[in-house]
Amino acid sequence: MVSIKDVHKSFGDLEVLKGVSMDINRGEVICIIGPSGSGKSTLIRCINALNDIQQGSILVEGQEVNDPNLDKLELRKKVGMVFQQYNLFPHKTALENIMMAPIRVLKQDKKEVEETARALIKKVRLEGKEDNYPGELSGGQQQRVAIARSLAMKPDVILFDEVTAALDPETVNEVLLTIKELAEEGMTCILVTHEMAFAREVADHIYFTDRGVIVEHGPPTTFFDEAKDPRTKEFLSQIL
Ligand code: ATP
Ligand code: MG
Repeated sequence: MVSIKDVHKSFGDLEVLKGVSMDINRGEVICIIGPSGSGKSTLIRCINALNDIQQGSILVEGQEVNDPNLDKLELRKKVGMVFQQYNLFPHKTALENIMMAPIRVLKQDKKEVEETARALIKKVRLEGKEDNYPGELSGGQQQRVAIARSLAMKPDVILFDEVTAALDPETVNEVLLTIKELAEEGMTCILVTHEMAFAREVADHIYFTDRGVIVEHGPPTTFFDEAKDPRTKEFLSQIL
C-alpha cells in the first residue's frame, strides 16, 4: 500500500533522510519512534508530498509520489494527515470543520456530507459537541475533530505526527483510544509517537530512526524486548 525505498531528503546541505526504506501493507499500523531531529516528521511529510525527495521512491498504491506530474490533490485524498497542532478553523463549528473539505474539495452534496460528518462525530465520541467552536473544546476533543475531519475524506491511509504530544495528560488516552478503534477497523495508520505503551499494544511494526536512518525495526515484542542496536537500547532506556 505504501512502499518507501532508499529515500534521501536534504534541506540545503543538511541531509535529513539518508536512505530510508519501509513497507506498509493495507490495514497495518506502523509506529515510527526516535530522537528529536532524527527525521520522523520529514519522512511522513514525504509520503503525502508535503516534502519532495532527492533520491529514492515512495509508492502509494503503486503511484509514485515523487513524480513531478503527480496530482497532489488526488494523493491527499488517499493519504490523510493529522498534526500535533490540530489546525481547526476557529470560526467554524466542530461539524463545519469536518464538512468543509468534502464540500469544497470533493464537491459532494451538502446533505450527504452532513450525514457522514454526524456519524463521524459519533465515531470519535463527540456527540453533543457538533455545534461547539474549537475554542470551546478541550485539546483532546479538538484533536478528535481533526481526526474526524481527516476521515471525512475517506482516506486509504492516515499519517499521524505526534498527535498527542501537545495534549494534557488526561486527554491523551481518549485520542489514543480513537486511533486504536480506527486501527481495529482496519484503517492503515502510520504514526510518529512517543507513546510506547500504545505502540506496543497497537502497532504491527515499529521503526526506530536515528539521524536519518532506520536503525532497527520489528514487531513490538521483538522491538521492545530484544532491541539489539545500542542506540535503540539507549533511547528505550530513557523513555520507558
Ligand atoms: P521531533 O521529534 O523533534 O519532531 P523529527 O524526528 O520529527 O523531530 P524533523 O522535523 O523531521 O525531525 O527534522 C529533521 C531535521 O530536519 C532537523 O534537523 C530539522 O531542523 C531539519 N528540518 C526539518 N524541516 C526543515 C525545513 N523545512 N528546512 C530546513 N531544515 C528542516
Ligand atoms: Mg517531528
